[in-house]
Amino acid sequence: MTDTMRMDGEFVAHTYSRFPVELVSGSGCIARGSDGKEYIDLGSGIGVNAFGYSDGPWKEAVTAQLDALQHTSNLYYTSPCASLAALLCEKTGFSKVFFSNSGAEANECAVKAARKHAADVRGIASPVIATLINSFHGRTVTTLSATGQDKFHRDFQPLTPGFIHISPDPDALAPLYGMKDLAAVMIECVQGEGGVIPLEKSFTDALVRLRKQTGCLIVCDEVQCGNGRTGRLYSYEHFGFTPDIVSTAKGLGGGLPIGATMMTGEVASVFKPGDHGSTFGGNPVCCAGALSIISRLDEKLLESVRRKGKMVFDRLSGAPGIKSVSGLGLMIGIALERPASEVLKDCM
Ligand SMILES: *Cc1c(COP(=O)(O)O)cnc(C)c1O
Repeated sequence: MTDTMRMDGEFVAHTYSRFPVELVSGSGCIARGSDGKEYIDLGSGIGVNAFGYSDGPWKEAVTAQLDALQHTSNLYYTSPCASLAALLCEKTGFSKVFFSNSGAEANECAVKAARKHAADVRGIASPVIATLINSFHGRTVTTLSATGQDKFHRDFQPLTPGFIHISPDPDALAPLYGMKDLAAVMIECVQGEGGVIPLEKSFTDALVRLRKQTGCLIVCDEVQCGNGRTGRLYSYEHFGFTPDIVSTAKGLGGGLPIGATMMTGEVASVFKPGDHGSTFGGNPVCCAGALSIISRLDEKLLESVRRKGKMVFDRLSGAPGIKSVSGLGLMIGIALERPASEVLKDCM
């Protein structure tokens, strides 16, 4: 056990059970431990290090911005914030972006936008948002309430009202047609924490029909499956529809904390000055890092993500010890015949 591990155990709140490794540096896909060992990080920092550890162009963008201006506030204009919003809108066709600092916050903004759209545009006083069973939307009380997994809810009652959980099955949408208060349905096109499981296209097609009939919004939580990981810039592109709101974070900043909530159509104009905000949101250093990431996620790179993902799928499917392989692009889940924890221990 290292001094760091002892100190961490004594003073850091015990909300994580960490692996017995202290990482000190890294480059590309290799992380180095204080034990002198090199590790291949297949989890990329939970879908964050889009271009790996210590990526050159990202570091340059971040340090150049650090030298110029590390923070101001949202009382003033800064170029990285405006340029990142413009680039995201240009690449996705969305029309407005709100910047925050994490996935949970990006989802909080999505929930607030959906609720205000319901109130302003549709006159719904007490809007309901449907999310999927086994979804994961974050750890704040509201995003926890949105998360469709009971194990996260226990001990944190009372939760934020206004959420229902449905199964990702076209038939499960039938009762929603009669719900006058339905503001939005929020989905991960590839569930991450829920097991790296893509939705069926029959479900997203049915959801698009529900939206057309009822006027509800579709919110895509692209916090984990966005930013090129699945071989498209955002994973909804695989399913042939455009959501009304997209939240994203993790890979967007290449390792610095940033969340973004993108909006289109009527929902893009519901927020007025004072409706929402964040001290650090749109921070110039984080935005400069994200600009470096997003500007390099071009079609050539996305094509290589799809090709490499297919190669991993093909090699692993049916291989000894592998039960099944799931996911999209390089967002891949592997079900093993042995407990994963044992295999991880052997790998380490
Ligand atoms: C990680 C994750 C979140 C929460 O993001 P934080 O940055 O940890 O707040 C929300 N939704 C999905 C799908 C995630 O994978």
